[in-house]
Amino acid sequence: MMEVGIMVKSNIKNLTYEELERLLVDKGFPRYRANQIFKWIYKDVEEFEDMNNLPKDIINYLNDNFYIGIARVIDKQQSKDGTIKYLLGLEDNNAVECVLMKYKHGYSICISSQVGCRMNCSFCASTEGGLVRNLRSGEMIEEIMAVERESGIKISNIVIMGIGEPFDNYDEVMKFLRTINHRDGINIGMRHITISTSGLVPAIYKFADENLQCNLAISLHSAKDEIRNKLMPINRKYNIAELMKACDYYIEKTNRRITFEYALIDGINDSKEDAKALSRLLKGKLCHINLIPINPVKGNEYKRSELNSIKEFMKIIKDNGIPVTLRRELGTDIEGACGQLRKSYLNDSVN
Ligand code: SF4
Repeated sequence: MMEVGIMVKSNIKNLTYEELERLLVDKGFPRYRANQIFKWIYKDVEEFEDMNNLPKDIINYLNDNFYIGIARVIDKQQSKDGTIKYLLGLEDNNAVECVLMKYKHGYSICISSQVGCRMNCSFCASTEGGLVRNLRSGEMIEEIMAVERESGIKISNIVIMGIGEPFDNYDEVMKFLRTINHRDGINIGMRHITISTSGLVPAIYKFADENLQCNLAISLHSAKDEIRNKLMPINRKYNIAELMKACDYYIEKTNRRITFEYALIDGINDSKEDAKALSRLLKGKLCHINLIPINPVKGNEYKRSELNSIKEFMKIIKDNGIPVTLRRELGTDIEGACGQLRKSYLNDSVN
């Protein structure tokens, strides 16, 4: 009996420049065609036929094997301060969130790296439902392209700090970094990209060895294991001492400063004693602390710290000579914390 093969096409945006080049050369096409195709993809053409300097045989090959993945904007919410939160629909009907923010130096986007997340941080709205699946590199790129397409804005900075733990999707995130940074594509400099982890220790060592100029942020949120264990279950696997060892390795290897993110939660991690413990932990390290007044999340009891406690906390850190900033609050009038837009979309779809 003759077998009938089903040809499955794949999203060409999931290929790095090198993968595309290797593939075309293997198929007998000239190497420089990869460069032409790559440039067209990131000029945002939607059909291979629009790549008007390619011969018919390559266009046929591309059409037979690939498609150009495009994410649709399902919903968006604009804050009074100009921050826009987007909900993007993926091809399998999953949805991810990303947030466009305006800063002095230009526009920054906070993207998701997974659909859902399995890290289970107790203050996070993305945790419910756990991890659905990893995003492919092309889908992360499309978060940026879809928002640029819809808003007409050129994005200059990326933070991978939306839904998901980027180091739990390590290989695709590395492919994403290399593709977005490529000079013939979107070409966002590594120094304009920040990757934020909840503390997956083995991946921090691996990332240090990648030798990328990209910024690293660690979600710390407490300098005490007993508190961090409750806020971030990952701490039960890799405690603060192990995390700090990995951070020291990263700093030594890259000579790059780490940003420690610290969400201030009323009565949980915002006392003077907490600030002193944090200062003891980080004093002398090549680092910077970013304090974040927590966004209240529907369904949990955490409250934002009082302004006085925030000021006192910050002063203790400053007095210890550690650079510290208080994150400007953006978009608090739209569905606050990450994960909430997707959550309300899923609830609406279910109801
Ligand atoms: S805070 Fe980040 S790492 Fe933690 S559960 Fe939420 S998305 Fe995952």
